[in-house]
Amino acid sequence: MFKKIDHIGVAVKDLDEAVRLYRDVFGLKLLEIEEVESQKVKVAKFDIGGVHIELLQPTADDSPIKKFIDKKGEGLHHIAYEVDDIEEQLSQLKQKGVKLINERPTEGSSNTLIAFLHPKSSIILTELVFKGEK
Ligand code: ZN
Repeated sequence: MFKKIDHIGVAVKDLDEAVRLYRDVFGLKLLEIEEVESQKVKVAKFDIGGVHIELLQPTADDSPIKKFIDKKGEGLHHIAYEVDDIEEQLSQLKQKGVKLINERPTEGSSNTLIAFLHPKSSIILTELVFKGEK
């Protein structure tokens, strides 16, 4: 079951500039800035009422976020939903004909399991997040 929106990912070219907008102009609470080497991105995480906004800046030319910006420009990149049982959810979605990018969950940040659904069958790139109590 999809429980709630966990976070919204936004692709940006200049993280410092985007952080100034979200933190100083919009007044959102900046939680942390971290570099995720496996995804070749630098991420600034904000909290707004329990939902996170993640600003994603590419750190390499072959970063998926760089490719996205080159093709579509800055903006909404993905929506992530928290789910109860990620393995079960993936198999149900697959049965219903949804194309998956990750057939199996992979490790996300802060001890979570994540998996992406293909944007061709989810309109917007969609991420599932499982926060098990491990
Ligand atoms: Zn995400």
